[in-house]
Amino acid sequence: MDEYIRRLKEGSLKLYALERELPPEEAVRVRRVFIEGETGTALPAVGSFSIGIDRVVKRNIENMIGTVQVPLGVAGPLLVKGEYAARSCYLPLATTEGALIASVNRGCSLITRAGGADVRIMRDGMTRAPVFAARDVAHAREVVTWVEEHTEDIREAAESTTKHGELLDVVTSVAGTSVFVRLEFDTKDAMGMNMVTIASQKVGEAIERETGAVLVALSGNMCTDKKPAAINMVRGRGKTVVAGVRLDDAMIADLLKTDAETLAEVNYRKNLVGSARAASFGFNAHAANVVAAVFIACGQDAAHVVEGSSAITTVDRVDGGVYVSVTLPSLPVGTVGGGTGIDTQRECLEMLGVAGGGDPPGTHAKAFAEIVAAGVLAGELSLLGALAAQHLARAHQDHGRG
Ligand code: NAP
Repeated sequence: MDEYIRRLKEGSLKLYALERELPPEEAVRVRRVFIEGETGTALPAVGSFSIGIDRVVKRNIENMIGTVQVPLGVAGPLLVKGEYAARSCYLPLATTEGALIASVNRGCSLITRAGGADVRIMRDGMTRAPVFAARDVAHAREVVTWVEEHTEDIREAAESTTKHGELLDVVTSVAGTSVFVRLEFDTKDAMGMNMVTIASQKVGEAIERETGAVLVALSGNMCTDKKPAAINMVRGRGKTVVAGVRLDDAMIADLLKTDAETLAEVNYRKNLVGSARAASFGFNAHAANVVAAVFIACGQDAAHVVEGSSAITTVDRVDGGVYVSVTLPSLPVGTVGGGTGIDTQRECLEMLGVAGGGDPPGTHAKAFAEIVAAGVLAGELSLLGALAAQHLARAHQDHGRG
C-alpha cells in the first residue's frame, strides 16, 4: 500500500492506472486511501459496498473509489396490462425524496383497484445522428441524395457491427453546409447507445468515402441524446410508451379524496395550460421523479431522465369518472448492457422479471418500458389527486420532514 501511495503522490503512477498493477478490489482500496489523504476526508461508508466490481471497473466507471448508496424502496403491487408485461409487480425506486414512494404507492393502489393500467409501445427505435460537412449547398443536396439512394448499403454497413441491432430508418436534415443523418435502430434488449454509436461510425465512414463530405462528429446533436429536444418529443427516441387507466367516481372519492371534475381541471390548468405557458417539454406533474428513481434502481443511464421524463399527462372526462393517461415519447431503457449487470441493479430488474436478454430478444426491454410507464402513471395520479384535494404540503410535512 505505502509504495503505491508514494508513487501516486510523486506522480510516477497515475490514479487511473492502478488496475493495471493490482486486482480491482485492491486498486479501488489504494485509490480511496490516496484520496482520503489528499482531501483529509475519511471515507469508510464510501468504501463499504456489496457489489462485485471486476466488470464494473472495466465497463461502468473509471477511477473508482467506492460507491454511493441510495435508499431503495418499493411501490406496489402495481397491476400492469401491457403486451409484454402483464403482471402485478413491486416497482423498485431508489430515491432520497421523502414522500415520493408513499405517493407512487397510492397511485399503484388506485391503478390496481381499477383493474390495472393498459400500456402499449407505439414506437421503438434508438438514434444516432452524425454530422457531415459538405463543400457547399449543392454538395449537401448530393450527399442527401446519395443517402436516400443507398439505404441498403447503409443498412449493410450498420448491421455488420452488431448481432442484435437492426436499422429501421434513415432521416436526413440539412442546415447550410451541415448534413445530419439520423439513424434509427431496433436495439432489442439493449438501451443501445453504444451499439448505435459503433454502427454509426461504420455508416459515417461509408458516407464520407462515397460522397466526399467530411464526417465532423459522430454525434451531431440531432440524435438527440441527453438534451431536451423537440425532435425526441415529436419523432420518439428509445421507447414511445403510453399508459392509461379508467377511474370511476367512487375510487376517486375514496382513494384520492377528490372528484372527477376537480382532477380534470387540475390537469388542464397545471399540466396543459401551465406547461404551455412555461413552454415546457414536460406536460406532466412529476414524471421525472419516477423515471429517475426507477432508472437509478435498475441500472439505466441516469442522464436519460432528460428525455425519458418529457411526458404528457391527460385526464379525459368519461361517463362516471375519468380516463387518465401518460405518454412518454422518448424513454431510453435496456435490460442488458450499461449498468444493468451490476449486482444490486440486476436484482431490481429480476424483481420485475426482466433481467437480461428476453426471448425473443427485445421483449424484456419492452416489458420494462411498459412497467416504467405504468409507474409514471401511478405517480401522476397520486400527485394530481393530492393537488386536487389540496393535500400536497401536508403529505410532504408528514413524510419528508425530519
Ligand atoms: P452495451 O453495454 O454496449 O451492450 C449492448 C450489447 O449487448 C449489444 O451491442 C449486443 O451485442 C449485446 N447483447 C446481448 N444480448 C442482447 C439482447 N438480447 N439485446 C440487445 N443486445 C444484446 O449497451 P448499449 O445499450 O449499447 O449502451 C448502453 C451504454 O451506453 C450505457 O452504459 C450508457 O451509459 C452508454 N452511453 C453511450 C453513449 C455513446 O455515445 N456511446 C451515449 C450515451 C450513453 P451485439 O451488438 O453484438 O449484438
